[in-house]
Amino acid sequence: MDEDHGGGRANPAALSRAQAMPAEPSAQTVHRPLAQRVTAQLQRFEAWCHHVDIAPDLACDIGSRKWLRGMATFLALSASALALWPDFSAVEAATAMTVKRREREEFRSQSIAPLALGGDSGRHMGASPMVHPLAAVPERPTVELVSTLGQGDSFGRMLERAGLGAGDISQVTRLVQQVLPPSDITSGTQFDITLGQRSAPNAPRELGSLDFRARFDLDLSIERGEGGSLALVRHPIAVDQTPLRIRGTVGSSLYRSARNAGAPIGAIQSYLRAIDKSLSLEDDLTAGDEFDLIVAYKRSAKGERQVGDLLYAGIERGGKPRLQLLRWGKDGQMFAASSIGQPRAVPVGQPVAGRITSHYGMRRHPILGYSRMHAGIDFGASYGSPIYAVADGTVTFSGRHGGHGNYVRLLHGGGLATGYGHMSRIAVSNGTHVRAGQVIGYVGSTGLSTGPHLHFEAYRSGRTINPAGISVVSRPQIDGKERDAFKARMNALLTVQPGEALGSLTPVQSDHAQAAREIDRLAPKKIG
Ligand SMILES: [Zn+2]
Repeated sequence: MDEDHGGGRANPAALSRAQAMPAEPSAQTVHRPLAQRVTAQLQRFEAWCHHVDIAPDLACDIGSRKWLRGMATFLALSASALALWPDFSAVEAATAMTVKRREREEFRSQSIAPLALGGDSGRHMGASPMVHPLAAVPERPTVELVSTLGQGDSFGRMLERAGLGAGDISQVTRLVQQVLPPSDITSGTQFDITLGQRSAPNAPRELGSLDFRARFDLDLSIERGEGGSLALVRHPIAVDQTPLRIRGTVGSSLYRSARNAGAPIGAIQSYLRAIDKSLSLEDDLTAGDEFDLIVAYKRSAKGERQVGDLLYAGIERGGKPRLQLLRWGKDGQMFAASSIGQPRAVPVGQPVAGRITSHYGMRRHPILGYSRMHAGIDFGASYGSPIYAVADGTVTFSGRHGGHGNYVRLLHGGGLATGYGHMSRIAVSNGTHVRAGQVIGYVGSTGLSTGPHLHFEAYRSGRTINPAGISVVSRPQIDGKERDAFKARMNALLTVQPGEALGSLTPVQSDHAQAAREIDRLAPKKIG
């Protein structure tokens, strides 16, 4: 044992002997190298394994010592395998920089914090005992501000928002009312307001002056006079209403040519819409044609421009007018100069919502039993359906009329008359004037009739005609005196020179020109 422990005292003679005689029995305690000892141990373990059988078949000899040892081996191996089961939890790494409370506060103050989190950034200082609240602060003697009338806003509310007192608001409203109702002021109008000093510490400031554009051609200002009362001053703005006339050659694109000639987009669109109703933009226009459009136009001395409605739309070919449309009448419709005074044939509408059950011509009468002329068209419709006048006209008969039952006859222009029979109820009386589409009665089965239907007939010069496809001659929409006025209006418009409205308008010196510099405003306004 003593020699085994003393590995340090190696004896070279003993070593070489052990190397020279490896077969020597291991029982003899000799100094051997580590590798040899390990090999010997492994050999012994191997021999033990052969002898012992550490992995027996667990299906045999259940309960025997050998089986129990095998089971123990199995459980031990399983447990050690499970002990090595991997863990996927986060691995903590060291921070790149140590952030202490002070640094964290510094970062926070420089960040932009989301509003949802309170928008808390910047450095904060609490009120210390050094802070004393002010009893009163010095105030500006006057405050100048611009207030805008919003959409759906009211004049009074706008003034209130600007900081005026109730007394001033009612006075201002009364003054403005003399010129126009405050509700007529267009939204978006800006008000230059000057507020003076307060009469009491918490009272609203007194109104000094109020300036705004009341209309396209009028500036209003309300100023406080010497006596302290408010007064209204009107500043009319010169407005030129020369219509804007644009002419040019159609070229490859009418739209682009008109744009190049300086026509506003809205005016070109109205122009194209107007002429499109009278001629085809694709087929009836050639590149050499000339377009001519006139729109209402307003310019103020202050420089604003307002484009209004299209007044005239023309197309010329070879110097001769091909199409001349003029805005005319209350509805602002465009009328062609060539169609004035020309009567038009307009096909009539259907007298009832129903389907034709019997046409005009010879037929066997369902009640009388023999063939005779059916002098109208029958429309099958349910009892009580409204019957409409097919065109404007005058009621020449209304009441019982033999086999027609309840019957209405209308006289239209041009010798045309229409009749409506078998009504359950009549809605118009004799002599009244009816418009096309007006209800004149209701479907029924009065007179010689087998069921509810409308018997519709037409007369020309007192004799029945086939009501299918009849048309009424409409009176010209413009005639007589109006026709002369129309021509005069068009000729007047055509004297406007193209581009005349684009010339410069001499600006009128505004009589309440504001001093540009603050120092000039301080100087007394009235000198001499
Ligand atoms: Zn009939």
